[in-house]
Amino acid sequence: MVKYPRLEIHLDRLSENAKEIVALGQQYGVEIWAVTKVTCGHPEVAKTLLGAGVKALGDSRIENICRMREAGLEAYYTLVRIPMKSDVENVVRYADCSLNSDLTVLQALNEAAERVQRTHDVILMVDLGDLREGFWPTELPGAVEQVLQMKNLHLKGLGVNLTCWGGVLPTEENMGKLIELAESIESQFGIQLEIISGGNSSSLPLLREGKMPDRVNQLRIGEVLMLGNDTVTHTPFPNTRPDAFVLQAEIIELREKPSHPIGTTGLDAFGKPPVFTDKGKRIRAILGIGKQDVAADGLRPLDTGIEVVGGSSDHIILDLTEAEGTYQVGDIVCFTVGYECLLKSMTSPYVEKIVVSQK
Ligand SMILES: *Cc1c(COP(=O)(O)O)cnc(C)c1O
Repeated sequence: MVKYPRLEIHLDRLSENAKEIVALGQQYGVEIWAVTKVTCGHPEVAKTLLGAGVKALGDSRIENICRMREAGLEAYYTLVRIPMKSDVENVVRYADCSLNSDLTVLQALNEAAERVQRTHDVILMVDLGDLREGFWPTELPGAVEQVLQMKNLHLKGLGVNLTCWGGVLPTEENMGKLIELAESIESQFGIQLEIISGGNSSSLPLLREGKMPDRVNQLRIGEVLMLGNDTVTHTPFPNTRPDAFVLQAEIIELREKPSHPIGTTGLDAFGKPPVFTDKGKRIRAILGIGKQDVAADGLRPLDTGIEVVGGSSDHIILDLTEAEGTYQVGDIVCFTVGYECLLKSMTSPYVEKIVVSQK
């Protein structure tokens, strides 16, 4: 029995994307660490990325790192969400490295690493204005001084995260600031920093233009590998493909309906006032998938005549009036997906994950 909804994972397409980005990195002396969090650390995804040449794996959750380790994937694992103080024991046990921005957590990591008799690598994050995680540049020398005294931690490098919360874009200027900070730390403490981590997918356009300062030697990449999406311009990233993941859902109702509700309107299922354009009667389909499994605005039908109208927890509503194909109840509609949509469908236990490995 074939079960829907399902998410096809095309490993050959994923591998194409990863080879392209790894080659781009090589051209400029930059290691690519693949971030697997959007796939919940899916072992076959991770294995494919490693096979395509990514240097290490990063994930935001220890559970995902354990999932990949338990699948037998030997790799260097980094926790990319700064650790919870309550979880430091697991962090030092299962991750080789973590990104950090808090001295009390670093102290707790050091003590946990001592208890399990390990050395744990740390990359200190610097906030260059995006206002998510990171030490302020002025706090950095003091933090480095303390970390260097923590016997069970190894200061592996510095990193920055941009375009996540504040939407701040990587530029020659803010990357230059990162290098300046790194070099002043190196000369002040007489150390050599192994990794200068210049950000996530949003740093790839700068790299591609040849404008990334030389000392940036590592990027942590998720979205471009998975979805071939340039996260700065939201256009396709050159030489990558958007269809490594294809979502399929089944039509459970198909009927001609007016495009404007009948009666006095209140709020929708999520407490928001609904907005409608009256286009007269339309052919409307309901899919057996909902906002519990996908982000409605991240569904891109492969049949480009189909319009996604909206959805509720368990239903997605489509307008098929201008569809290229003809459909009936029980038919399957296919989509490529945006990042949030991929995140939800990978996380949803109701969506079957189907690994496709042949070309
Ligand atoms: C998610 C994440 C990444 C990867 O981001 P993409 O935009 O998917 O490339 C990199 N670094 C950190 C700290 C992250 O949380």
